[in-house]
Amino acid sequence: MKSKKCPNCNHEFSGVKNFCDNCGTRLPHNSIANPRHDLSHTPAMSEGQLFGVLGLVSGIISLFVVGIVFGPAAIILGVLALNRRNNLGWAGIIIGGIVVFVTGIAFLLLVLE
Ligand SMILES: [Zn+2]
Repeated sequence: MKSKKCPNCNHEFSGVKNFCDNCGTRLPHNSIANPRHDLSHTPAMSEGQLFGVLGLVSGIISLFVVGIVFGPAAIILGVLALNRRNNLGWAGIIIGGIVVFVTGIAFLLLVLE
């Protein structure tokens, strides 16, 4: 067990405590840096993969809701993924393309009627 210091009075103690023995100050559970800050240094996936997955997800969402918004978004994200050499981008482009095409035709039919 590492010993810690109270941020208020510098009283040293060991183990996990919620309050300082000496002055009663509430102690942070993790005085070590927040692990979320390290995410940018250790990417779980590459940028291309990220765009590819986002494009695919947008494409799937566009199949069910607001296709006119998520369809183009899927295409754009797919293109961004392809620019970063991730072939998953094709999935977003194809799904987004179909959705935009179908939504466009449906829109035209509504307008023409
Ligand atoms: Zn203290």
